[in-house]
Amino acid sequence: MKKEYDILVIGSGLGGLVSALILAKEGLKVCVLEKNNQYGGNLQTFSRDKLIFDTGVHYLGGLSKGQNLHQYFSYLEIMDDLEIQQMDENGYDKITFGDDEIEYPHAQGYENFVEQLSQYFPEERENLEDYCEEIQRVCSQFPRYNVVGKDNYNEEILHLNTKRFIESITSNQKLQSVLLGSNFLYAGDSENIPFYVHALTVNSYIQSAYKCIKGGSQISKLLIRKLRQYGAEVHKHAEVSEFVFNENNTLTGAKTKSGKEYSAKQIISNIEIRSTIKLIGEAYLKKSFLNRVLSWEPVPSCFSVYFVLKSQSIPNFNYNIYHYSSEETGLECLSIQKRKLA
Ligand SMILES: Cc1cc2nc3c(=O)[nH]c(=O)nc-3n(C[C@H](O)[C@H](O)[C@H](O)COP(=O)(O)OP(=O)(O)OC[C@H]3O[C@@H](n4cnc5c(N)ncnc54)[C@H](O)[C@@H]3O)c2cc1C
Repeated sequence: MKKEYDILVIGSGLGGLVSALILAKEGLKVCVLEKNNQYGGNLQTFSRDKLIFDTGVHYLGGLSKGQNLHQYFSYLEIMDDLEIQQMDENGYDKITFGDDEIEYPHAQGYENFVEQLSQYFPEERENLEDYCEEIQRVCSQFPRYNVVGKDNYNEEILHLNTKRFIESITSNQKLQSVLLGSNFLYAGDSENIPFYVHALTVNSYIQSAYKCIKGGSQISKLLIRKLRQYGAEVHKHAEVSEFVFNENNTLTGAKTKSGKEYSAKQIISNIEIRSTIKLIGEAYLKKSFLNRVLSWEPVPSCFSVYFVLKSQSIPNFNYNIYHYSSEETGLECLSIQKRKLA
């Protein structure tokens, strides 16, 4: 007999695994399908010469007690098993430009953030305070982010543009570029990204910044262990190639490339939205929805180069460097992370 699940989750990235675990903890029968050999999507790691390398997630914010990710990971029952290391409090990210030797720090803690940057921009202290205040105000409007409060969003803040906002805070171009220095985290596009995305991202790291000892894949491994404890199924080498509909055009399941069919009352697709549309088939979707999604410009990508350095060749550092050839913090960004021998 064909097995039926309450929920089928397509893709075992962080979003898929967290959704699956929340629902499994609620007692639902959940199954996650992943096309790759390794679970986790952007949480995947690989190793060379006894070093573990991250492919995506390499540092996390808001993991100190009482902060938002700490609350989420505690609820998901993985917090106590995570092996993490707090990054440099006076500069978890450092922004550099061309031949300028100064490393402009993004520090942990709002007061410290202002303090550290004011050393390089003494006349900008008040503007920096305004920047910090606005970030916190915007974040406070997102109830789910803070795991408390009401459910609705304040529409007005959704439309604020990142670049315009930073320009309204200071006319100092170097400081503008420093504040936008980690924009690689949201596709390097501060011209088109709403300010709330910048605020939510930067806020979590200013609260606290940690790197995962032994890489980000420990998060997916812990989530999968918990999922199995809660009775969920997780399958790899299971690429969904088609959605299944019944004679009433109701979505009833999904088929994998190998021909296996999974039935479920509801499906969560945690893969790229255009791929989801292809799997569903345009005929099943509203034209207005299709037009909106298909009109979105694709975001830029990045490529990563990994080096294993000879031992003792450079001093250890506990921060990321975002390097730009000039003060134009556009797409051309070199992001450097360092990992010690495990
Ligand atoms: C280079 C890089 C660095 C980053 N650094 C950080 C960082 O330091 N800190 C941070 O917080 N965030 C970071 N991010 C962002 C973070 O990695 C992502 O926001 C997050 O991991 C995305 O998770 P996801 O669940 O949305 O999707 P994904 O991780 O993309 O997962 C999607 C999964 O779906 C699977 N899949 C796709 N199609 C199918 C199919 N047809 N059938 C079955 N499975 C399928 C894929 O194989 C994949 O495993 C980084 C991102 C990148 C790209």
